[in-house]
Amino acid sequence: MNQELVKDFKFKKKFGQNFLKDENILRNIVEKSDIDKDTLVLEIGVGAAYLTYYTAKAAKNVIGYEIDESLRDIICDQLKDCDNTEIVFEDFLEANVKEKLKKYDYKKLYVVANLPYYITTPIITKIINDNLGVDKIVIMVQKEVGDRFNAKPNSKEYNSLTIFLNYYFDIKKLMDVSRNCFVPKPNVDSAIIEFKSNKKYSVKDEELFFKLVKDSFKFKRKNLRNNLKGYDLEKIEKALNSINKDLTARAESLDIKDFIYIVNYLKDN
Ligand code: SAH
Repeated sequence: MNQELVKDFKFKKKFGQNFLKDENILRNIVEKSDIDKDTLVLEIGVGAAYLTYYTAKAAKNVIGYEIDESLRDIICDQLKDCDNTEIVFEDFLEANVKEKLKKYDYKKLYVVANLPYYITTPIITKIINDNLGVDKIVIMVQKEVGDRFNAKPNSKEYNSLTIFLNYYFDIKKLMDVSRNCFVPKPNVDSAIIEFKSNKKYSVKDEELFFKLVKDSFKFKRKNLRNNLKGYDLEKIEKALNSINKDLTARAESLDIKDFIYIVNYLKDN
């Protein structure tokens, strides 16, 4: 890996350009996410292709998305010996990824991303909505955000996204990454979080489940009775009663199993 390539590069704040320069951490990420020769890696935010350089060695193929065209020459140079990589200069949030994947043959699909933190949620939401069949997401987040994904009911960070993420994935922290591992050095420390696809819950109507969870959290201060106008409140009340709750409860006090219970109850009764 060649770090000299960026010596004249003007880092752009608006794209959240903090490149991960620590080679031990880079190797560690590839190792801990167990990328292998059956894996297609979708990398979001290629930067100077530091991480790409290591993932390309371990993976079958890498497709990298990078929004900043001015990195083209650096990336080409960095990856000159990696013929299993394709770089797309496009905003990942706007990209037709499903179409791109059609050309590839693979057993496992992993998303790897070190991105500006303000787009973490839109990126994860897109990956879920695009229904790409992702087996794993390995993503760098601000250290404090790392714990949020596993937030428990009644905590400040607990919301509908927590429930959706835990519905689809097993979530764990792979490692902490000090701010000193980046160039330029950011103001915060980071952590790498792994989302491993594992649908361990079964719900009788997935669409209703998503809608009910979303609606229940609509107004944070309001209770279920007020957020769920338009639903069959009598039935929901009965379902809640059998888990020792009622319509005065707020969504934040219900865990994923409670929501699944309500949906299944509505379907059965
Ligand atoms: N993964 C590299 C770069 C991290 S910096 C490394 O670890 O060193 C984040 C990179 O994401 C920047 O190069 C930035 O230009 C790019 N980026 C930011 N928003 C993006 C978007 N919406 N789509 C694709 N790339 C994006």
